Amino acid sequence: MRDENCIFCKIIAGEIPSNTIYEDDDFKVILDVSPASKGHALILPKNHVADIFTIDEDVAAKAMKLAKKLATHMKEVLHCDGFNILQNNGEVAGQTVFHFHMHLIPRYKNAKNDDMILWNHLEFTPEELAEIRDELK
Ligand code: AMP
Ligand code: ZN
Repeated sequence: MRDENCIFCKIIAGEIPSNTIYEDDDFKVILDVSPASKGHALILPKNHVADIFTIDEDVAAKAMKLAKKLATHMKEVLHCDGFNILQNNGEVAGQTVFHFHMHLIPRYKNAKNDDMILWNHLEFTPEELAEIRDELK
């Protein structure tokens, strides 16, 4: 299950070089080539799926378990002060590579990008929030 035009499928197949920090039957974990911080890594499922909407539920669960394991390992080794786990779906949400991946981003006090804000907060009235709650229930 591979997409011939997908850069992450090529990385998984070893056709494009990467800095691999972990590999098993289901996943390859590589350093992001354009990192937000020291150690920024990407968990790539080996089978090509585009996003959270199409990924197999069990693979998604395994990816989160692996994220926990690697975050723990990275905190021990890199001595980071915090950690973001991020996963983008769709262009409007910031996805640029359409092969599911989870970002593992160690965060450091007083480092470049330590003020990186992932979103600005909007204001919704209590009524609006209640309407959204009812829509989603
Ligand atoms: P996203 O914007 O969530 O789709 O994230 C895609 C990420 O893949 C970006 O952070 C890129 O820097 C990273 N990326 C793109 N090409 C490569 C590559 N060849 N090796 C490692 N990371 C890459
Ligand atoms: Zn792919």
